[in-house]
Amino acid sequence: MTEFARTHRWAVTNGYRVRIAAFALACLPIGLHIWPRGYGPGVWALLVLQFLIYPHLMHWRSRKAADREQSELNNMAVDAVMCGAWAAGLGFPLWISTAMFLANLLNHTITRGASGVLICLLAFAAGALASTTVIAFHVSTDTNGLVTLASMIGLAGYLSLIGIEFFAYIRQLHSVQETLDQQRKTLEGANAILHDQIGKIHDLQEKLREQANRDSLTGLFNRRYLEGTLERELARCRREGAPLTMVLLDIDHFKLVNDTYGHQAGDEVLRVFGRLLLEHARIEDIVCRYGGEEFLLVLPKMPLDIALERAAQLLQIFRETIVSHGDLRIRIRASIGIATTPEHSDSVDGLIRCADQALYQAKRRGRDLVLAYGDIAPRDSAS
Ligand code: GH3
Ligand code: MG
Ligand code: MG
Repeated sequence: MTEFARTHRWAVTNGYRVRIAAFALACLPIGLHIWPRGYGPGVWALLVLQFLIYPHLMHWRSRKAADREQSELNNMAVDAVMCGAWAAGLGFPLWISTAMFLANLLNHTITRGASGVLICLLAFAAGALASTTVIAFHVSTDTNGLVTLASMIGLAGYLSLIGIEFFAYIRQLHSVQETLDQQRKTLEGANAILHDQIGKIHDLQEKLREQANRDSLTGLFNRRYLEGTLERELARCRREGAPLTMVLLDIDHFKLVNDTYGHQAGDEVLRVFGRLLLEHARIEDIVCRYGGEEFLLVLPKMPLDIALERAAQLLQIFRETIVSHGDLRIRIRASIGIATTPEHSDSVDGLIRCADQALYQAKRRGRDLVLAYGDIAPRDSAS
């Protein structure tokens, strides 16, 4: 049984102890009261049965009950009936009756609350009434000094007993509360750490996702990013009845740059090239390093003629750019192939294939120029 359940069943666990003690404490003044009155052995037997045996029997019975707590509460009601009957049977001796009633009242109120007052009153009165129907109603309230003293001591003893039980009960509740508080604090601490770690994991995941989609040299999107994005972009443009244009760029004679100036100079050229593309892109454009020195611009909702104009401008920008690397001054040139939906293809693979073929043609026709798929003449107006 858990700590909480044990304290919750207070009426069951304590009911036995306090009821046994209460009956034992009541037995003495009643015995002293009937002793000089010369009652027969039947009354003495009844006294022993009622005050020394009955509470054990009732408890033994309630141990087998399905709802032990309710059964103990019922026992307390029966106690009040019995005490009422004894009080009436003895002619309501003032100290004995008062002590018995108060003890019962206390039992009922600490286990039932306010309704315990009413139940105790009714049960006590019912017992008294039942007793007076069997034995003639008589009133003899006086008790001698010894009985009065025994009643007082009995009542005081019983009140102390209840007080001690309650003190232990409340201390137990406090310690349960303290344990719970401690556990709550530990849990809150663990929860905060967990939240913190989850936050860090999320940040890390976000960073990893970002890194997985980026080219480390230029910081542009990589080919992997395109795989998840192109189909979505194409579907969106198709839905909106807008074109999607792809511009494939390849640096001319890049191998020569590496061979002449070194790989690091080649890297710097790639970085500058990527920066230029990014600087001249719209917010909705996707700028991607497609391969070694190949770059892809995905231009949603951009018709072919505008894309051709922009490509020509880019070529002009490349021509005007000189990449500095240490003391080196390196010139850039590039060739561009363009394909668009729906004229050239309406699939991602088809568009890339067409742009690649246009680029191939641009290289064949001398480089540093723009060709759209299917064009026979270069479109680079600036060249
Ligand atoms: P073309 O005008 O026909 O495109 O000739 P190209 O020399 O530009 O093309 P090619 O395919 O022959 O050579 C591309 C070179 O790009 C070869 C490869 O070493 C180089 N390259 C690829 N990736 C990198 C990189 O990350 N850094 C550097 N420095 N070079 C790279
Ligand atoms: Mg190439
Ligand atoms: Mg090249």
